[in-house]
Amino acid sequence: MEAVAEKKALKGGEFLIEETSAEDVFIPEEFSEEQKMMAAATQDFIDMEINPITERIESMEEGVMSGLMDKAGELGLLGVNVPEEYGGLGMSFNTGMLIADIMAAAGSFSTAYGAHTGIGTLPILYYGTEEQKSKYLPRLASGEWKACYCLTEPDAGSDANSGKTKAKLSDDGKHYVINGQKMWISNAGFADLLIIFAKIDDDKKLSAFIAERTWDGITMNDEEKKLGIKGSSTRQVFFNDLKVPVENMLSERENGFKIAVNVLNVGRIKLGAGCINGCKDVASKSTQYANERKQFGVSISSFGAIKQKLANMATKTYATESASYRAGQDIEDLIAKLQDEGLSPSDAKLKGVEQFAIECAMIKIHGSEVLDFCVDEGVQVYGGMGFSEEAPMARAYRDARITRIYEGTNEINRMLLVGMMFKKAMKGEIDLLGPAMAVGQELTGVPSFESPDLSAPLAKEKTLIKNLKKAVLMAAGKAAEKFGPKLDHEQEVLMNLADMLTEVYVAESTILRTEKLMASYGSEGSELYQNMMRLYLYEAVTKIKNAGDEAVACFAEGDELRVLLMGMKRFTKMDPINTKVLRHSIADVMIEENKFPYSLYK
Ligand SMILES: Cc1cc2nc3c(=O)[nH]c(=O)nc-3n(C[C@H](O)[C@H](O)[C@H](O)COP(=O)(O)OP(=O)(O)OC[C@H]3O[C@@H](n4cnc5c(N)ncnc54)[C@H](O)[C@@H]3O)c2cc1C
Repeated sequence: MEAVAEKKALKGGEFLIEETSAEDVFIPEEFSEEQKMMAAATQDFIDMEINPITERIESMEEGVMSGLMDKAGELGLLGVNVPEEYGGLGMSFNTGMLIADIMAAAGSFSTAYGAHTGIGTLPILYYGTEEQKSKYLPRLASGEWKACYCLTEPDAGSDANSGKTKAKLSDDGKHYVINGQKMWISNAGFADLLIIFAKIDDDKKLSAFIAERTWDGITMNDEEKKLGIKGSSTRQVFFNDLKVPVENMLSERENGFKIAVNVLNVGRIKLGAGCINGCKDVASKSTQYANERKQFGVSISSFGAIKQKLANMATKTYATESASYRAGQDIEDLIAKLQDEGLSPSDAKLKGVEQFAIECAMIKIHGSEVLDFCVDEGVQVYGGMGFSEEAPMARAYRDARITRIYEGTNEINRMLLVGMMFKKAMKGEIDLLGPAMAVGQELTGVPSFESPDLSAPLAKEKTLIKNLKKAVLMAAGKAAEKFGPKLDHEQEVLMNLADMLTEVYVAESTILRTEKLMASYGSEGSELYQNMMRLYLYEAVTKIKNAGDEAVACFAEGDELRVLLMGMKRFTKMDPINTKVLRHSIADVMIEENKFPYSLYK
């Protein structure tokens, strides 16, 4: 039997200092038949159950959304990641991401779905006692009960731990009595189960509780009037002497913030992946409209300015998708390894996701911003019809906007991910200092005139990625040296560093996926993917250079700044490419096929 080489597993964040080979990354083309069937069933659900009643969903017709959740439950879609012993399908982490990805095309329903299966169900799955799990999970997995997650308050949004909702132990010690107010609670209008975060007495940190809707003491405001996802329920929720039995506290006292953060890590990567099919849908519809719409006697899809938009939509989506499933599988592999080492399934899941919290935040940011890009360009392709409620782009545009706000705003996620990277370095979990110092020496040393071996597939692109990593290490290393612990307050620098890190990760993932596809489909058969990869890389390099120049100019001046800017130029040097030709060839595939340029699942 042929020996199977063991996959080289990187720790979360280690992509910055380590090289990854194509065989060590998972690509969505490798999903199993079973996973593809799940994806197809989810798409069928959207096509048959959701799309025909969009108007009824958007007008919040009584019972429609919860009825759809019931149907999703019947199909097993609410229990994808819930173990079989609790009535779920017990599928892998990456399969859960895949279903979230497909659901992205379901508009308001995808928010209801995400809130229920993610932040609503996961606190119990990961932190529940055996009794809590067996009582609640089967109901949540089947859709008999719907869940919501009550963290945000009027004065506690991004600063979630500052909430004022209070819990007090009753005199007989049997209940926690909860009083307070929550805001922006998805699914609140029809939820049967509430995950509530509150502080016990004068605790500094939150605790978490499971409450049932039928208990006295829960009231709600009317539905919020929102910019988008208008069919999803979002309400303020009030607790007035709500009595929660002590056995319904989740985990331990003051562990609530940790629960909230860890559950949000999963929520973030799923939200990022949960933008992909939305992008594909918008790109497909834009292509169809561009083919049909005639101006100046020809289809508008024949214009370079339109082709540019279509190609950019497809390329950015391909990139988000590459990064999402690479990270998803890395998390899944780590979960399996931790379980093999003896951790319980829930602890393994928690630790696995926590280890990749940096990647989770990057994917949330990237996915949501690519979706926003796609819907914006989608409206533009539709022209005046993009502004009309009669065409699909107006709703897509409004619905997409929330993804940059919830599950931690993209600003908060940017700051978090850079902070986590530095923390890992300080704890010695990843060695940033050594590579950063090496880059510093390279910068001041004599440049090497050795020419690298560029004969291997995509060797040039991979050499460029190595250099881009040096650009990030240079900027991050210098920033840390300049500001020390005060770097936390240098938000503009953090934003730039976050963008640099994200672009490196996404561009590298895109190259590695393309390399695998070149091996499977041959050089000619993978031309589309190569073109998208090259276009994305060009864009990533441009962004990294701009963000890097801005970052170093925030703290260096004179000769030092000049040296750093020269370094940035050197590490982001790329052979010129003809982006017009690349974009035309990508768009031509879309125009010919009248949709997003490749299909994975159907
Ligand atoms: C439709 C919808 C559904 C939602 N669903 C839920 C739900 O189910 N459960 C739940 O608990 N919550 C939910 N939320 C709340 C959501 O998570 C918060 O809105 C989000 O975390 C931002 O909090 P905020 O609205 O208070 O904004 P703020 O925290 O006030 O932020 C306002 C702006 O300031 C920025 N900002 C804040 N702090 C900082 C800082 N330290 N440094 C730099 N910039 C900063 C933010 O990035 C943002 O741009 C939902 C919100 C909406 C709109």
